[in-house]
Amino acid sequence: MLTLVLALILCFSSGQWLPPTTVTPGTAVVSEVSSGENLRDRYHEYNEKYFESKLPEGDSLKVEYSVLPGLHDDSGETFVTNYEGVEEIWIYLNAKLRDFWFLSDAVLLHEMVHIKLRNLTQKDPHGVLFQKEMHRLMKAGAFDKIL
Ligand SMILES: [Zn+2]
Repeated sequence: MLTLVLALILCFSSGQWLPPTTVTPGTAVVSEVSSGENLRDRYHEYNEKYFESKLPEGDSLKVEYSVLPGLHDDSGETFVTNYEGVEEIWIYLNAKLRDFWFLSDAVLLHEMVHIKLRNLTQKDPHGVLFQKEMHRLMKAGAFDKIL
């Protein structure tokens, strides 16, 4: 059962790690669906609860719903850039998830794991380290009220 649930979670999203030179995520967001205040609040809450507040927050982080073309058949994407030593992170959730908070939160947690492992898993973003982290979140109860 745990494996099935985890597989479902993993299927929700397949965020890609793109090299900084190809990333222009801020330009493709439609403003009327990009309000991410609740998402940012939940990111903060989950950061405290499940990541010891170690994930980045503040101006270098954007968490938004989006209608990015790349999200057409995907639930979420995370982009990390590091231009001249200044890291910026974008989490985009598919705007279609806006009315389904439990799906949004599951995808958000998935993307937060990508952020935690951003310097370790570029070549295999959903590999062993990622799966271990998802198991850790599941054991910690992160998905109890979601799934
Ligand atoms: Zn992913």
